Amino acid sequence: MTIELKVPALGESITEATIGQWSKKVGEAVKKDEVLVSLETDKVAVEVNAPAAGVLARIDAKAGDTVTIGQVIGAIDESGTAAVSAPSAAPVPVAPAPVVAAPLPQPAPAPAAAPAVAAVSGDDAFDLVIIGGGPGGYTSAVRAGQLGFKTAIIEKRGTLGGTCLNVGCIPSKALLHASELYEEAQHGLGKFGVKVSGVELDLDAMMAHKSKVVGELTKGVEFLMKKNKVTYIVGTGRFTGPETIEVSLNAGGTRTIKAARTLIATGSDVSTLPGIKIDEKTVVSSTGAIALPKVPKSLIVIGGGVIGLELGSVWSRLGSKVTVIEFLDRITPNMDGEVSKNFQRLLAKQGFEFLLSTKVTGVTPTKKGATVTFEPVAGGEAKSLEADVVLVSVGRRAYTDGLNLAAAGVEAGPRGFITVDSHYRTNVPHIYAVGDVIGGLMLAHKAEEEGVAAVEIMAGQHGHVNYDAIPGVIYTMPEVANVGRTEEELTAAGIAYKTGKFPFTANARAKANAQTEGFVKIIADATTDRILGAHIIGADAGNMIAEIATAIEFGGAAEDLARTPHAHPTEMEAVREAALGVDGRIRQM
Ligand SMILES: Cc1cc2nc3c(=O)[nH]c(=O)nc-3n(C[C@H](O)[C@H](O)[C@H](O)COP(=O)(O)OP(=O)(O)OC[C@H]3O[C@@H](n4cnc5c(N)ncnc54)[C@H](O)[C@@H]3O)c2cc1C
Repeated sequence: MTIELKVPALGESITEATIGQWSKKVGEAVKKDEVLVSLETDKVAVEVNAPAAGVLARIDAKAGDTVTIGQVIGAIDESGTAAVSAPSAAPVPVAPAPVVAAPLPQPAPAPAAAPAVAAVSGDDAFDLVIIGGGPGGYTSAVRAGQLGFKTAIIEKRGTLGGTCLNVGCIPSKALLHASELYEEAQHGLGKFGVKVSGVELDLDAMMAHKSKVVGELTKGVEFLMKKNKVTYIVGTGRFTGPETIEVSLNAGGTRTIKAARTLIATGSDVSTLPGIKIDEKTVVSSTGAIALPKVPKSLIVIGGGVIGLELGSVWSRLGSKVTVIEFLDRITPNMDGEVSKNFQRLLAKQGFEFLLSTKVTGVTPTKKGATVTFEPVAGGEAKSLEADVVLVSVGRRAYTDGLNLAAAGVEAGPRGFITVDSHYRTNVPHIYAVGDVIGGLMLAHKAEEEGVAAVEIMAGQHGHVNYDAIPGVIYTMPEVANVGRTEEELTAAGIAYKTGKFPFTANARAKANAQTEGFVKIIADATTDRILGAHIIGADAGNMIAEIATAIEFGGAAEDLARTPHAHPTEMEAVREAALGVDGRIRQM
């Protein structure tokens, strides 16, 4: 008997959907409940499962086609046998017991993209091969191990943890904290009645602390791989076909492995400007800037984004004169305008100099350091400035060098970012990609969320990332944190909103700590009161934003935060006050 596959009802306002990749070819055997194809709309993505076991008899709508609700998109022949004997897919990973008592689909669905490769057997064949051991890759590996996938992770760096642990988040934060303590010890303790004299900088010891933290954390990730039975292959991976990867082992020689599924998590690398050569000594990227052997008297930072301002802060606190040159008319251009303006003012108070709307035209090494030439973006007189060190922090690019994507048939977009669908699938259905290499927010926790979602989707579960709830933090002093939308974005989208704002000057704990710079701003929908965004500038903004991200994840309203008891005295009370402010009910000011 032939059973037609129809587009199911997808919600009240949804009339059509786009067909994703089919996981089976016509003639292949299908199991009951197996995911056959995904349907995507701008609101939801759903999977069409096989209503019965049999053979996929025909496909009426191919990937990319727009279909309407109720339209027939294919059929299953219940009595049929596979026209071409289907290659056995990798074993379906066993889903672990759910943490919450949610009903498990019965039977557990097969992996969404059953790959056309031989059953996994032998030391060199895996259910899942992950290329790249950064936050996207290693977190995916942990989840895959938990779900019972036979998993391998390939990393060429020699240590796990990727950009984040080795040359990004962690070393920069170790230096930010250490330099903040140095600054405090020099200038910040007197007002508390703590007299300190003879404060000295031991840069080597500061760097040793950074390296120790990095070493311990990267080893910790290695332990996590062992704990989750993930095979760690130290070397550089490159596709030799859609299911085969050759690894040039760091120890010498090569190893070819077979992958039922592959997850590309090769991250990003620093970008530079045309004609500017980074030598990591005088003209440095962030990687060189976290390892300078001595404090430069002067530092020019090209690019007023997060990384430049964080690392500029480190060296400014340690004694450098820092000048930031930014092409746009404001620093941190994607941030809420009010926060960005205040942030610039506070950094200027700390000694930063800013040249905005200014275009760098060249960097020339000199005996002393390097000369940067620049001119106004709007046109005008060209000028130059010399500094001991120049930090180029103009963004990062997707890193797929040497991966040989062509051999796998994987397509990348115009700027090199790998294109994926809402299930993190590339154009090759059993090859997925997550993290910096697919673009979007270049944040470690974003890469982690995507990795977990991708692996859960591979296991037939419903992994999902709520991009509206992903916070971003700049770890300067004060810190800057945001989640959700900015006022500018909402205005552009024509969404009516209300704001509530509370300054730390009126917060008791901030006053006691003498950390009164900044404010909390909460933005809520004008009609529903649902929280749409939040922006904080303040000493502990990075931790504080988590409460609001949680509220957003739960679809919370400003009133929910306003009615949640907050311990007194804490800086967190400023969040509640800002939430009260959305409704004009601030109590502490
Ligand atoms: C200075 C700095 C500070 C940062 N601070 C923060 C922060 O505070 N918070 C935050 O959230 N984010 C921060 N980031 C961003 C964060 O580091 C990245 O978003 C994150 O590391 C991306 O993770 P990923 O797994 O996608 O890629 P990556 O971490 O870049 O990992 C990719 C890995 O793949 C490996 N690789 C690439 N190609 C191959 C191959 N062919 N074979 C084998 N291995 C390969 C690379 O060696 C690398 O280790 C910072 C970045 C920098 C540079």
